[in-house]
Amino acid sequence: MTHKPLLRSMVPAEFAALAAAAGVPAYRGRQLLAWLFKHGALSWDRMSNLPHSWRDLLSATYDLTGLHLQERQLAADRTRKYLFQLRDGHTIESVIIPMAGHITFCLSTQVGCAMACTFCATARGGLVRHLEAGEIIEQILHLRSDLAADPVPGQGNRQANVVFMGMGEPLDNWQAVARSLQTMMAEDGMAMSRRRIQISTSGPAAGLQRLIAASPGVGLTLSLGGSTDEERRKVMPVPGRTTLQEALQLAAKYGHQTGRRITIAWVLIEGQTDGLDQAARLAQLLTGRDFQVNLIPLNPLDDSRLEPSSERAVQDFQKVLTDAGVPTFIRASGGRDIAAACGQLRRRRQ
Ligand code: SAH
Repeated sequence: MTHKPLLRSMVPAEFAALAAAAGVPAYRGRQLLAWLFKHGALSWDRMSNLPHSWRDLLSATYDLTGLHLQERQLAADRTRKYLFQLRDGHTIESVIIPMAGHITFCLSTQVGCAMACTFCATARGGLVRHLEAGEIIEQILHLRSDLAADPVPGQGNRQANVVFMGMGEPLDNWQAVARSLQTMMAEDGMAMSRRRIQISTSGPAAGLQRLIAASPGVGLTLSLGGSTDEERRKVMPVPGRTTLQEALQLAAKYGHQTGRRITIAWVLIEGQTDGLDQAARLAQLLTGRDFQVNLIPLNPLDDSRLEPSSERAVQDFQKVLTDAGVPTFIRASGGRDIAAACGQLRRRRQ
C-alpha cells in the first residue's frame, strides 16, 4: 500500500519552494507553516485563511495526518499513555509524563526496535520500520491537543520537554530524527529550545558519529546497562557490539561540543545490573567526565522473570556512585499501572 507523502515530513525551510511551485505568494507558505507546526492543525478545514484552491491542491498531493489515536490511558500518577495507529496499520506509543513543575512528552522514533534489549517490551517484535519525520512531529501535536483539552492540574502553559525515549533507537533513524529536530527548533516551525529536547540512545557508534557531525545541540542520554562489555552484551546484545569505551568517548565528545552534561541511563534489574561491584566499575568509568547517572528500576514485563531491584538495592547502588562523586538520581518509572514502559501497551494490544 502506498500513501501520499506526509506534508509534515517536510522541514520549514522547504515551504517557500512549495508555495513558489504552486504559484501562490510566499506569505501563503508562511501561513501554511503556522497551521502545520504552530497551531498543529489536524484538518485542512481549520486552515481557514488559506484559499480553497490551494488546500485542494495540497490535499491531492499530501496527507495531512498519519496518526490515528487508538487508545488513551491515564495512570494513577497522571502519566498518560497513547497508542496511535499509523496509515499502514502499525502502532506506536507516546507518553505524557507530568513532573514537578514541567511536563515531558516521550516520543517514538521507530515501529519496534532492532536492539533486542532483554528488559524492553519494544524489543520483542524486532524492528518493523522507521518513522518518518512527520510521524514523529505529529505525536507532539496530538499530545499538545490532548493537554489543551484536558490540562494537567497545577501545570501552567509552559512548553513541554520532549524526550526521544519511546519505541525505537533514534540514532538508527537519524535522517527522520534530524528532520524532526529541525522542525521542532526552527523559529517558523515549533520554535522549541534545544534545552528542552533530549535524545536517548543505546549508543551505536555510527549513530553517535552522525550526531556529533550534525551537532544539533540537544541533550543526550546514553543507556548503558553494563559496566563491562560482557555484562552489557548480556542485557543489550546489539548495543553491546559497540565497546563501552567507544560509546562513552563518543558521548563525552558530544557533551564537550554542546557544553551539556551527558546522562547515563541505567536500568536496575535484580541480580543482573544491581551489583555493588558493577556500581563501583561504573563510577570508575565515569570519573573525570561530566556525566550524571539516572537509575531506573525495571518496569517489569508480563512475559519475563526479570524483577526490579529492591528499594534498598537501588539506594545502595546510588550511594556507591555518589560517594565516588558521580551525580546520581533515582528515576521512578511512571505509570506502572498502565504499562507505560517502552512498548508495553502495544504488546498488550497485540
Ligand atoms: N533506544 C533508546 C531509546 C528508547 S529506550 C535507548 O536505548 O535509550 C528508553 C529508555 O527506557 C532506555 O534508557 C531503556 O533502558 C529504558 N527502558 C526500556 N524498557 C524498560 C523497562 N522495562 N523498565 C525500565 N526502563 C526501561
